[in-house]
Amino acid sequence: MLIDSHCHVNFNAYNKDDREIIDRSLAEDIWLINIGSEYETSRRSIGIAENYQQGVYAVVGLHPIHVTGDVTESVITNGQTQEVTTRREEFDYNKYKELAKSSKKVVGLGEVGLDYFYFDRNEADAKAKKNLQKEYFNQFINLASELNLPLVVHCRGHKDNPYEVYDDILEIIQGSDKKIRGVIHCFGGNSSQAQKFINLGFYIGFTGIITFKKKAEELQQIAKEIPLEKILIETDAPYLAPEPHRGQRNEPSYVKFVAQKIAQLKGLNLEEVANTTTANARNLFNI
Ligand SMILES: [Zn+2]
Repeated sequence: MLIDSHCHVNFNAYNKDDREIIDRSLAEDIWLINIGSEYETSRRSIGIAENYQQGVYAVVGLHPIHVTGDVTESVITNGQTQEVTTRREEFDYNKYKELAKSSKKVVGLGEVGLDYFYFDRNEADAKAKKNLQKEYFNQFINLASELNLPLVVHCRGHKDNPYEVYDDILEIIQGSDKKIRGVIHCFGGNSSQAQKFINLGFYIGFTGIITFKKKAEELQQIAKEIPLEKILIETDAPYLAPEPHRGQRNEPSYVKFVAQKIAQLKGLNLEEVANTTTANARNLFNI
């Protein structure tokens, strides 16, 4: 058994075949957690989870990319490409609190965090945008503490300075007087940053990026170094499909390729990686 600890079957990319995708995953004994990125997709992740007795769970939150502006992306559903725009959202503590409390299927808050990817480093208002993301992240820390839920943290830097954002997240978590737990999803920091998150009690999430042939050496090295007991596996579907499906629409059942890669890197058998990462996810999300 495996758990895809981070996917988005609640997104438009699956609005024609979400049930089929989930059934295929469950048939392979792969459970999944659908992560919200703003209010609407968070609500949808709960609605989907409510359809299943077990194996499908929801995490609700506001992705930092939806904090600072409208987002337009190309969505491919069953061969058709569509441009979809998501409006910027103002964070409302009580609205998310009610949503998180509305269902027993909600097992965490996220994805929340910081994303500097689209900020021009010289842009005058980049600082104000970063500050707003930080303010919302702090509020989600408060909510996680109030509801005793783990945080699914998204963290992505600017391409010219990819590690700064991880230092900023570390500073916020270290500076908080709240006792929080969580996962740094789709980890892209360096080895010493990974160690610091682990020392704070956080898990490190690995996606299909770890299977890529190019530019994944540093990440593969980190996966080798850190204990299996601190690793979660995830797809981030529909994005980041692992080898041998790279470039296609991703889906939760492909998390097995992430598990296989970690087994290979660590010189372990697949069963051990499956057992331990499943136990890790069950422990963090109290499943
Ligand atoms: Zn995600």
